[in-house]
Order: sequence, then C-alpha cells, then structure tokens
Amino acid sequence: MRIFKFGGASVKDAAGIKNVYDVLQKVGYEDVLFVVSAMGKTTNALEVVVKDYFEKSASLQSSIQEVKKYHNQILLDLFEDEKSPVFKAVNDLFSELDYFLNHNKSPNYNFVYDQIVSFGELVSTTILSHYMTYRGIKTNWIDVRNYIKTDATYRDAEVDWDATQKCIAKNIKRKVLNITQGFLGADENGFTTTLGREGSDYTAAIFAYCLNAESVTIWKDVPGVMNADPRYFENASLLNQISYREAIELAFYGASVIHPKTLQPLQKKEIPLYVKSFIEPLLPGTSVSKGADLEPHLPCFIVKKNQLLMSLSSIDFSFIMEENISEIFALLHQFKIKVSLIQNSAISFSVCIEDKFGNFNDLKTMLSKKFKVAYNENVSLYTIRHFNDKAAQMVEENKVVLLKQVSRETMQIVTKESID
Ligand code: ASP
Ligand code: MG
Repeated sequence: MRIFKFGGASVKDAAGIKNVYDVLQKVGYEDVLFVVSAMGKTTNALEVVVKDYFEKSASLQSSIQEVKKYHNQILLDLFEDEKSPVFKAVNDLFSELDYFLNHNKSPNYNFVYDQIVSFGELVSTTILSHYMTYRGIKTNWIDVRNYIKTDATYRDAEVDWDATQKCIAKNIKRKVLNITQGFLGADENGFTTTLGREGSDYTAAIFAYCLNAESVTIWKDVPGVMNADPRYFENASLLNQISYREAIELAFYGASVIHPKTLQPLQKKEIPLYVKSFIEPLLPGTSVSKGADLEPHLPCFIVKKNQLLMSLSSIDFSFIMEENISEIFALLHQFKIKVSLIQNSAISFSVCIEDKFGNFNDLKTMLSKKFKVAYNENVSLYTIRHFNDKAAQMVEENKVVLLKQVSRETMQIVTKESID
C-alpha cells in the first residue's frame, strides 16, 4: 500500500482539488491511503474561532461565517448541482460545530481547541471524497479518530501505538482509495485530539508504519526538499536523496518541509518517504530513504525566525551548575517552550527558544526569582548543516551575530536582522 499526504496548500481552492484528481490519475490510486489536511489556512481561521469563543468576542459569528463561506465557495466551484449530497454533508459538519459551541461547558482551552479546529480536516476530507466520487473514483472515507488513538494531551497528543496498531491492522480496506484526516486522533473517551500543528505528515507516517506501507509520498508545491528555503535564500537546489538520519537532523533544526516526528516511524521500518511536486507529479522529487546521506552534498540552510535568546546568570555570581540547569529545563518543559540551542559558560547559561504557546512572560517571572534574566526578542536562528566558509559568510552578511556555535557538521548562528 502507498500512503499519500496532501497538505493545506494543495487543496486551498477548487483548482487545487481538481489537480489532486489529476495527480491521482497520473500516479494511480489503487491500494492507496490518502491523508488530507484542512484546506488552505483553515486551521488558522479556526484558531481565531477558538480565541473569539473564549474571549466572548463580538466577532465570533463572523469568524465562523468566514470559515463556512470559504468552504461553500469551493463547493460551488467544484459541484455544478447544488443538490449534490456533499452540500448537506458539509452543512451537517458545520451544524455539529455550532452545536458544540452552543453547548460546551469545558473551560479547558486546549480541549476546546481540538474539538473546534478538527472540523478543518473533517470538512476537507468530506469535500475531497465527494469530489473523487463525482469524478468517478470510488473512495472509502475514514474517520481517523477510530484509528489513531492518543492520550488526552490536547493540542499535542501522544500516540498510543499499541491501540493504534490494532485498530489500523484490522480495519483498513486494501485495493481501494482510502481517504482520511491528517492531524487528528481520539483519546480514550472518544474526544478529538490533535497531534500538533502541521501534524498531517506524522499521520501519514503512523499509517505507513502500522500498515507496513511500501512508501509515503508528501505532495508539495515545491519540487522536493531543497537545501534552503527559497523564500530566504537565492539559488536553492533540489536534494535528490537524503538518509533518514540526515533528514532527522534537518527536521530537528527546523527544516519545515518535513515534520520532525514523521521520520522515526518510517526509519524503523525503512519505509521510503518521497517529497514530490503536485504540479509535476511524475518527476522523482526527493527520496528520504536508506542510502547516501545527502545527494548532492551541499550545505543545507535552515532558518527559524521569531526566536528568543535568553541568558540567565546567577544573582550572586555563583556558577550555574547541574541542579540549576535541571531546574531551568523543568520550567521550560512545564511552559512548553522549545529549546533549539544551548550555550553554557561559568556564570551564564543561554538558550535560544521558541515560545509557541505564549508562555514566555510566565517563565520569565518564575526564573527571575532565582536568576538575572536577559533576553533578545525576535532573533533568527540559522543552522547550516555541512557548512563551509562561504555558507557562513552568506548567513552573517548584514546581520548582528549574537551567538555562534560550531560542531563537526553543523554551524548555528543567532542573529538580529539586518543592520542596514
Ligand atoms: N491543518 C493542520 C495545520 O495546519 C495540520 C497540517 O496541516 O498538517 O497545522
Ligand atoms: Mg495545514
């Protein structure tokens, strides 16, 4: 079986969805399980709904309306006949969302977030599935919540591999085009969970692992994995082959093309991951598989914008020792702040961090009780794998370098943006 994943950008409008049909025609769709994200920027739009709901904002209704209108326009562009059952199916889902918003009593933000945001994927797969049927491809729509079982860490759920493996092994049909939601799971009580933003790649990997799939293909609007993000670097080149290990390194440092959790399950079973263009689906793209580390062997550039560089020193000039460090990390973990670089000297300890959930102020308050806290906001972290002088120079040009760290294969540079 092959697993395909189509992200939000590939199904952002009617043309995109028609193109998915063309891709399937070209590459075949028998014995395929097809994982889809929410359309376009729907997840962001639903995050606004969650926020408005909690803030009891007057704009709640218009935020919901915006999501409905966007999908309705896509339906009108795709289906000539307004009596097509897809209109009712999508409408039913939105009624379910309204029902939840009117009846929910839970004050738990993360729980409510998952119950609301999940409609993005439920709606997108419903539309995709009806559209394929309409064009003559029979599909089997699957509610992923009956398959991917997780704990109840809403917004960042942990997969229960045993339970998931059992559900997937006995219930997935072969020889048809299965279509299911990325990013979602369900907890023990049947409540919807999500696997973390951009988690649909991970969904594809979970299915691949449990089904011993032949391959996973992630369909993208770029030709494959590039050695640099073309938005920030000129002359980005396509990488043909990347080993699992190298890909894990790249994802770890923040290469956005591959979701970091995606690779481990694939590596364990040596299932190849292809990243290909949905515009030119017959080109080979990038293969992440057993084999050469990196081909061609080029420096790879990864940028993480919007980071914080925080330096802690002890109030009494004592050394920062193991017990301090473990305390600092316990707090970082507690506030769900991700650390992307660590540097330690006798009396100061610096970390480059990402505050995804807006908890930095609380962290700072806690740390200030024990340490002097200095920080720079809005810094960028550049990582160069397989660096050389030219590559480093390119990154440092016109920037203030705040911190630099070099190991055998990797150079990391924290900068403030341009000084010109
Ligand atoms: N729709 C989700 C998100 O935008 C999951 C994904 O796209 O992978 O984060
Ligand atoms: Mg998305």
